[in-house]
Amino acid sequence: MKVKIKKDAKQAYLNSLGRFNPINWDFAKQMDQISGMLIEVDINYLFNNQINTVPVPGISENGFRLFDYVIEEVIDEVRHLYKRCGYCGKKSEKPTEFCIHCNKSEYLEDLTPWYMRKYPEREYNNHGKRLERGTYKN
Ligand SMILES: [Zn+2]
Repeated sequence: MKVKIKKDAKQAYLNSLGRFNPINWDFAKQMDQISGMLIEVDINYLFNNQINTVPVPGISENGFRLFDYVIEEVIDEVRHLYKRCGYCGKKSEKPTEFCIHCNKSEYLEDLTPWYMRKYPEREYNNHGKRLERGTYKN
């Protein structure tokens, strides 16, 4: 799974901030540096409203935690295939009613991202189809 970062990611970050939120200028600079890049997602840690990337050489040794506002496209989406355990944080492949790691069934959260929930009639797959995510924005 990869994400294409918006060309104006720095501005998208700044626009995302509320009026009274402080600006993290180091992060803003990094968003400028990764603008337009195609970055691999760390699928060991999945969330339905954000993504973690693998390290980006020369820019971030730890990778980034990114929200939708800087993402232009998602390629090879995999989140809809999993549920995340709110107890141990690990993912289990669907269909399952139990976390395969800790067996605490009551804490499973479907990881299907918002655009797949909003447009369930559209055809998505995880075999190389490019999802034009930006077009789903209001
Ligand atoms: Zn678990």
